[in-house]
Amino acid sequence: MQNDAAKPDPAQPRLSFMARLSLAFVVLVAILATIAVRVWQTTERFEEQSRWVTHTLEVENRTESVLANLGAIRADATVYVATGALPRAVEFESLLPRLDRDLLVLEKLVADNPEQSARAHALANAVEARRDVLAKAIAARQAGNTTPVLPATGAVSARRIAEAIIAVEAGALEQRRDDLRALASATRTLTTAAIALSIVFLVVAFWLIRRTHMRQLDQQRTLRDANLQLHDTLAESRRLSESMQRLARFGEMLQSCRDMEEIRHGVQQALGELLPGLGGRLALLNPSQNLLAVGAHWGLHGLIAESVFPPEDCWALRRGQAYPLAGTSAGFVCKHVQWPNPDFPDSTYFCVPLTAQGEVIGVLTIDGMRAIEPLERRLGVAASEQLALSLANIRLQDTLRTQSIRDPLTGLFNRRYLEVSFERELLRATRRTLPLSVLMLDLDHFKRFNDSHGHEAGDALLAQFAEVLKRLTRSEDFACRYGGEEFTIVLHEADEDAARERAEQIRAATAEMSVSHRHMQLEHVTVSIGYAVFPRDGTTVENLLRRADAALYAAKRSGRNRVASALGNPVQAAG
Ligand code: GH3
Ligand code: MG
Ligand code: MG
Repeated sequence: MQNDAAKPDPAQPRLSFMARLSLAFVVLVAILATIAVRVWQTTERFEEQSRWVTHTLEVENRTESVLANLGAIRADATVYVATGALPRAVEFESLLPRLDRDLLVLEKLVADNPEQSARAHALANAVEARRDVLAKAIAARQAGNTTPVLPATGAVSARRIAEAIIAVEAGALEQRRDDLRALASATRTLTTAAIALSIVFLVVAFWLIRRTHMRQLDQQRTLRDANLQLHDTLAESRRLSESMQRLARFGEMLQSCRDMEEIRHGVQQALGELLPGLGGRLALLNPSQNLLAVGAHWGLHGLIAESVFPPEDCWALRRGQAYPLAGTSAGFVCKHVQWPNPDFPDSTYFCVPLTAQGEVIGVLTIDGMRAIEPLERRLGVAASEQLALSLANIRLQDTLRTQSIRDPLTGLFNRRYLEVSFERELLRATRRTLPLSVLMLDLDHFKRFNDSHGHEAGDALLAQFAEVLKRLTRSEDFACRYGGEEFTIVLHEADEDAARERAEQIRAATAEMSVSHRHMQLEHVTVSIGYAVFPRDGTTVENLLRRADAALYAAKRSGRNRVASALGNPVQAAG
């Protein structure tokens, strides 16, 4: 069905805001123009009516003036007729033209009204007749007739006509006043309506403009917010990309590390750069897997932490995942850190277990004097994965290296290592002109021990004997299993006396050594030891070993469980 296409979208206004405003403005202008025309017309009519009112008043005035002047003339004439004197001759003479002028003006004023015009005409005739009568009476008085009679009828007729004219004008005046009142009322209504309409329009226009302005402000704010968000996102993604590059470099650096020392050094530098403003600690599990020791730390720490702690003190190691979980605070705090830190109330931390092939290697702890951001946490976790792999790799290499130079049964160096290292030590002793001794040791009647207790018990004895050698050997010396039940020890800076003393210690300790195997206490064994001293008994590895071996056989020959020096036991010539 395509009905929807035909329907107008309700969300879309039919007319834009400006179109609606313009339309309202045009309508208002039209209404105001109409009102203005009406007001103009009314004013015109008002003016016309005012003129008519003035006209009416003038007609009344003139009429009354005619009557007044006529009355004055009659009064003067009466006085003259009675007394023969004309006390106001000047005024009397001036009244006549004034009367004529008033009559003339009156006739002009009412010329448009036939009825009034006829009355004005009649008034003029009546006045004329009256004037004739008065003129005749005056003339008779002047001729000596002392008692002329002045008829009153003419005056009455003129007055009646004048009153009729005034009455008609008064009626018209009343009518015009009513019209004027109606016009004034209409004008008032129209102007009030125009002002009210204008005010309404202004208020509506103001409200609409204000609303539009507010919407624009809203849109600008939204746009600005969106811009800021975009800016933040860009900055974040730039930061992420830089961090990823650093992480990749960190991974490459780890891959080229050859031993634990290099890893420790590299981690301090690389993680300090990867997580600026934060601190970190790398703790590694010891071979007996009961303790973790902090081997490297860097940056600005927000927490005090233990340098050695058992694995169960770390929740990350116990749970096998980063702790505390992202976005949460530590419910249970790892015992190896002191959190919260009163010196830095905002300090936070998280631990990531370092595991490879399911085996725990250590733990990485990141802390700071401030909150750790989610990106920093992700980087820390990613770095720990690379770190764990590299540590596992180095550990594997260490194991292989150890296996190639150590004897698996006793943990002592093997014969190959002896040959290489002895050579190196001899060169150093030669250079520094220091003494050096070599001891050759052989367990007495070991074949017999093997035969009576079994090969396995023999192995246990060899391991036990090796522990005695390790215990009585300084760290700079080295003990080797030369082969079978024969051992060699190279003693640094040891002369005849030192060699003899050490050999004697070993011999005595061996005689006291108790060996137990499968919960059974086995018989004590003894050892015979021969030694040679550099440079007195020889200056080469071969010579010194041969001289020490000869001394050993001398010890065997002289009854075993004893120490013999090469000094009194020169090598027997072959045959
Ligand atoms: P002597 O006092 O003259 O040294 O007598 P001996 O029996 O110790 O000497 P011999 O060289 O005849 O015997 C050495 C024996 O050591 C032979 C061999 O069975 C035993 N042996 C060599 N290597 C091992 C080993 O790795 N384990 C065990 N259990 N025995 C070994
Ligand atoms: Mg032997
Ligand atoms: Mg032996």
